[in-house]
Order: sequence, then C-alpha cells, then structure tokens
Amino acid sequence: MTAPRSAESIDPRPTRAALLDFFDQRARPLPWRETDDPYAIWVSEIMLQQTRVETVIPYWQRWMARFPDVEALASAREEEVLKAWEGLGYYSRARNLRKGAAVVRERFGGEVPSDPDHLREVPGIGPYTAGAVASIAFGVVTPAVDGNVRRVLSRLFDEPKPTAAWLRDRAGELVDPDRPGDFNQALMELGATVCTPTSPRCTGCPVATRCAARTAGTQEERPAPKKRAPVPHRRITLVAACRSTDDGWRVAMRRRPFDGLLGGLWEFPEWEHDADPPLAVTLPEVEHAFSHFRATYRPFLVVARGAAEGCGAAELHGTGEVSTGEPRWLPARQIDALALPVAQRRIAESVLDWLGRQSGSL
Ligand code: SF4
Repeated sequence: MTAPRSAESIDPRPTRAALLDFFDQRARPLPWRETDDPYAIWVSEIMLQQTRVETVIPYWQRWMARFPDVEALASAREEEVLKAWEGLGYYSRARNLRKGAAVVRERFGGEVPSDPDHLREVPGIGPYTAGAVASIAFGVVTPAVDGNVRRVLSRLFDEPKPTAAWLRDRAGELVDPDRPGDFNQALMELGATVCTPTSPRCTGCPVATRCAARTAGTQEERPAPKKRAPVPHRRITLVAACRSTDDGWRVAMRRRPFDGLLGGLWEFPEWEHDADPPLAVTLPEVEHAFSHFRATYRPFLVVARGAAEGCGAAELHGTGEVSTGEPRWLPARQIDALALPVAQRRIAESVLDWLGRQSGSL
C-alpha cells in the first residue's frame, strides 16, 4: 500500500479555490440547492443515498409538497410515508426519516440541530449525512464523505485503499473554512460529473494540475476496487389469489413485518411448494436486483372460491396453499393506493390488467 500522503503535499488553498470556482460555474441547478431549510436539505440527502439525482428530483418535490416540515412528517402515518417513497427503494430510509422527524420534534424542539454530533442522534443520520446537513444548511466547518468524495480524494492523493479515518482526515483538512457546504458539494459534484468511476474527464477537471493520480497515470485504478462476493439469485413464486364479489374483485395481499427488508410494504404471498399452484394463470416474470441478492419473481394468479372472509389455505381450491403471513382480501381498486415495492407493483399491474380484462372494470 502506498504511504498515505498528507494534505500538506497539496496546498489546500488553491485546491479549495478551484473547487469552489467549479461549483459556482458548473454545479447543476438542483432544487434543494435553492433552499436553506435544514429539513429540506436533510430529506434530499437521505433520498440521494444510492439513488440518482434525476430520480430523486420529482420525489423530493412531491415529498416537500406533502410533508413540508418536520411536524408534518412526524405526524404522518407510516403507510402514507412509504407510499410517498414507493419506487425509491431502500425503504428503511423512509421509515427512519419519519422516526427522525419525531426525534427532532421531541428532543430538539422541532428544529433540525446544527451540531453534527446531535444530528447523529437522529435515526437514519450517519457521519456523511450529519456532515452534509451541518455544512450545507448551517455552515458548520465539517467534512462530508460520500462515495463520490471517497473516489475524488483517493485520486487527488493517489491513495489506492483509503480508510474511513484517512478520508475523514483528508476531507477535514481540505474543507473550506468560509464556505464548507459549497466546498463539500463541490467535491461531490466533481465526483458525480467529472471524476466519474470510469473514464474520468481529467482534461476538463479544475484540479487536474493538483491531482497525484493523474500525474502518476493511475486515476483509472483509484480507488482499488473492493472485492465483491458473488450476488446470490433467488427464484420466488408468488400467488395473487383473486375473488369476484358483489363489490368487485378482491385480491389477497399481506403486509411485510416492519423490521427488515421492505418492512411495512404490501406484497403478494409466497408459494412455498415445489409444484406450481394448480389452475393458475401464469403472469409475466419480474426481475429485481436488491443490494445483496437478485430475485426472479414468478407470479401466478388464482381465482379463489368460497366464503369471503380471510385468505385461508382451503380457499385456494382446497389445496392448502397461501403460505406465511396474514393475507387480507383487499379491494382490487385500492391496490394503487398501497405502498408496494417496485417488483410487486409490476406484478400488481399484471394482476389488475388481467382482472380488468375479465370484467371490464375492477
Ligand atoms: S484530474 Fe482526473 S482523476 Fe484527478 S480529480 Fe480530476 S478528474 Fe479526478
């Protein structure tokens, strides 16, 4: 491993000036950059974790219209919050935002704290988000190291394996004392638009002359890639049990436990038998990549008969099948209003499409 280089090996002042000038001239106009509301900035930072800027913009705008402040979010029902988050993924972020709003209301009098240590007490806020909110919303001189900043610093100092402590130290030495929020955003912006993971655009880079990796020609190899374990693949068979009633179609769905993956969202029950469900309509398969596995969903639609209550095994043609959880018969026309994970939403669309073709309406 190359010996870590200290910030003294590049004079921080011209680097700061070049990055701030780049930010002033070339930063993308993003809606959360036009506000100094700490709550709005906090929401944007949580949404931007592992999600592209273009995806986040409409979500953030709808969210701010629906939950305009800490009080509105702290008072909202979890179902409402998950629905507003639907499609963004990593739903624990939404649940933590709501919990965090309640903590800010109760522990900090409804005001988002400016001290990074206090911010860290809020659910869902880690070192990066605390640094980002403190510096951007309050002008606190503190670093904020996300994946983009990690890459830029690794290259600026030609450090192949930057540790968290090394990154914090380098970012802390570099951060501009007068404009810390803009400086942190400049580093992130450089990583997102110029110093990209592959093929960094060094010729248009404002710090090219100060970049150790560029001088050494190692920019494409910095930081060294992390070893990734192979991603497991699961095939998951689902059953959409449907029943025609006097009041339209009903569909059996269940809510996932609150703690864990996709907690609190609705889904079709899994079918845990080797043979496919009998007398079923085969719906199109849906692929989805989670952070730690890939899933192929095989959905089947079964028209159930029998009494209207519950969704017991016997209702699926007496074959004993809807597996775990407590599915409930939901009116098909209400499914649009539920919070569903992306893959389940696509399956729901197939189900509703099939039901609509049977009766012309739901
Ligand atoms: S010169 Fe190239 S590698 Fe260095 S910071 Fe700029 S874009 Fe990244």
